[in-house]
Amino acid sequence: MDKEVFVERAVVDSILSYAQMLHPRESILLLKGKVDKHRLVVNDVQIPPLATHGNRFSSFPLSRLPIDFSVMGVAHSHPSGALRPSIADLNQFYGRIMLITAYPYQSEKNMIILDREGKPLKYVVV
Ligand SMILES: [Zn+2]
Repeated sequence: MDKEVFVERAVVDSILSYAQMLHPRESILLLKGKVDKHRLVVNDVQIPPLATHGNRFSSFPLSRLPIDFSVMGVAHSHPSGALRPSIADLNQFYGRIMLITAYPYQSEKNMIILDREGKPLKYVVV
């Protein structure tokens, strides 16, 4: 992806603390924001309307989400600590970016953002 990615600090904190709260279950959050030709900005998170806690991301019904153009992608946690996407994750891509946070969810060092090809993206926390 040829856009710069910006994530607000409050979003990073929300994703990390939500993952800690649900551990050892997997957490799922929608990433909301805006995109233009040059930048993609994530400035809010939302609990998906159909989420049941402990749903695995790979079994989450993304196809039943309402169409919402402010959704930039989905964040989910890896309680196993693996900071990489699984094959199932890549087959389930929703939106423009995928964010994964891995145990112990302490900082953005425990976080990656991927594009649709599964390549890690550089991003800036603002
Ligand atoms: Zn995953």
